[in-house]
Amino acid sequence: MEDCLFCKMVNGEITPDKVYEDDQVLAFRDINPQAPVHVLIVPKRHIATLNDLQPEDRETMGSLFIAAKKVAEQEGVAERGYRTLINCNREGGQVVFHVHLHLVGGRPMGWPPG
Ligand code: 5GP
Ligand code: ZN
Repeated sequence: MEDCLFCKMVNGEITPDKVYEDDQVLAFRDINPQAPVHVLIVPKRHIATLNDLQPEDRETMGSLFIAAKKVAEQEGVAERGYRTLINCNREGGQVVFHVHLHLVGGRPMGWPPG
């Protein structure tokens, strides 16, 4: 997908601060971290929003969470706990239109989210 920031990271046009990669997903540090650990986990295939998910995306979306588990372990927050979230569209707070799972941790998380 041209002009998609996260596709450019997947195809190597832009080099992110990578923390994990497998055949389905790429994970890298958020440029504007909201917690001591803030990693974005993206599917390698372009999917714009959660609203665009198709049945064939099941495995890919599962891979995001399997990757999150590994990254949490790698970053040392698995036992303490962490949060994963996906924003969708304007009111959900989505600004990059390539689905991404935020993994945040390293401090207590508030609830409800703002
Ligand atoms: P959203 O609000 O769409 O759920 O999250 C987009 C995230 O992408 C934000 O947390 C933002 O800081 C991050 N981001 C935006 N541009 C870049 C960039 O160029 N590199 C990295 N690593 N993260 C980015
Ligand atoms: Zn994309």
